Amino acid sequence: MSLRLYNTMGRKMEDFVPITPGKAGFYGCGPTVYNYAHIGNLRAYVFLDILDKTLSFLGYDVTHVMNITDIGHLSGDADEGEDKMVKTAKERGQSVLEIAQFYTDAFFEDFKKLHIRRPDIVCKATEHVQDMIDLIKRLEEKGHTYMAGGNLYFDVSTFPDYGKLACLNLDDLKAGARVEVDQNKKNPFDFVLWFTNSKFENQALVWDSPWGVGYPGWHIECSAMSMKYLGEQIDIHTGGIDHIPIHHTNEIAQSEGATGKKWVNYWLHNEFLVIAKEKGQDAEDKMSKSSGNFLTLQSLIDKGYDPLDYRFFLLGAHYRSQVAFSWPAMDSAKSARKALNQRIAKVVEQNKGDTTTEVAIVLSQAAQAHLDKFTAALENDLATPQALSALQGAVKDNTIKPKEILYLVKKMDEVLSLALLEQAEALYKEKTEVKETHLSDREAEEIRQLLEERTSAKQAKNYARADEIRAELTNRGIQIIDTPQGPQWKRI
Ligand code: AMP
Ligand code: ZN
Repeated sequence: MSLRLYNTMGRKMEDFVPITPGKAGFYGCGPTVYNYAHIGNLRAYVFLDILDKTLSFLGYDVTHVMNITDIGHLSGDADEGEDKMVKTAKERGQSVLEIAQFYTDAFFEDFKKLHIRRPDIVCKATEHVQDMIDLIKRLEEKGHTYMAGGNLYFDVSTFPDYGKLACLNLDDLKAGARVEVDQNKKNPFDFVLWFTNSKFENQALVWDSPWGVGYPGWHIECSAMSMKYLGEQIDIHTGGIDHIPIHHTNEIAQSEGATGKKWVNYWLHNEFLVIAKEKGQDAEDKMSKSSGNFLTLQSLIDKGYDPLDYRFFLLGAHYRSQVAFSWPAMDSAKSARKALNQRIAKVVEQNKGDTTTEVAIVLSQAAQAHLDKFTAALENDLATPQALSALQGAVKDNTIKPKEILYLVKKMDEVLSLALLEQAEALYKEKTEVKETHLSDREAEEIRQLLEERTSAKQAKNYARADEIRAELTNRGIQIIDTPQGPQWKRI
């Protein structure tokens, strides 16, 4: 089999065929850095990590690009509300860039804790404004824009395919439109490419542009930066499902409007993590970063969970299924991960503590079958629950050699990233060290008794027995030192 992915564009499973054979370029929408990432956001990035590592596992040369939104993202995705970054900066009495740096650092600390590989290219919106201006100019030249009330808008009526990702046509979108607040728009779905100071008079970060001093809209950054680093046509673009109707729909209009070419071949979207319904509550709670009421990775750590318990919890669900977070569910994940680590520690013990698996080994048929099952699960639209069960199957298979099992564990962990061998090795060492302490306690007691017997033998002038005891202890690597306080001993 080869890799098959569910493409939101067209809503069907498709074989993955990269633009350049052997290479895979993908762009994942990154965070807006005005607050800590919540555990829902982190689900999106664990999903990205699985995609990234699956592509590498399957032999693709991966280039993963992620943006950092540090300007232009308003509290409403459709140009309404306040700028999220500016609002936080004002509340804290800090600059927008200080806020951005602080939460970007915190974001990548979470990456480390969750064993998420840092994308190959991390690009900040504030450092790519010229690229955005250049792209907007191309849109302007092609007649996709208009100026109204001081802002430059994308005119969706010039892009007939608008809405194809969301599977909606413009008439449907119009029918379902919310009350529109921006009177400047010709069509409610038009969106801002460039704001001048007409919207926020005291915007902290502004740039000069052909349309006046101002700042870019949120959507243009992803079109501009993905094209800069991955070219005008890219293999894969990802994000949470909330991005389908507005953000990604607008990104497509901008990118394809400017180039006239199909932009992204595969659109992948992760479902949401919701807070499980509690008694008396009608619906699941959607976590929202802007409400400030959410769980962070640190809140899980504070409750005694390892970040890898959360990663394990997430891998137990397919990325396209909604996941309900609850503490009991976290407890189950924690104990299941512990049991898995203990099981692998047993295999380490059977392999006499040897965890070196670097040497490529020729796998038996049975071992190869486990690896094939694992690979097939990932190739089937990144089915991590099935990949985990292939791992469990391998670990429990006592018909294959322990060394083979450890090799499989290491191989599978290239994607799962649960530090399986390290954790099992640590458990094994803990156990053997305990054994050694017990052994030396017993040995010490025996030595003490032999020394007592020797003292009695000497008192009874039974020097033969006393010499015998000295010889026996020497044989065991123990030297007797007679002191005025009585005999002492040390290891030779
Ligand atoms: P933001 O920082 O708000 O731009 O969101 C970062 C990423 O997290 C985006 O890809 C969102 O689609 C995704 N996301 C936001 N909330 C959730 C959630 N509750 N579950 C899963 N993904 C989410
Ligand atoms: Zn984006």
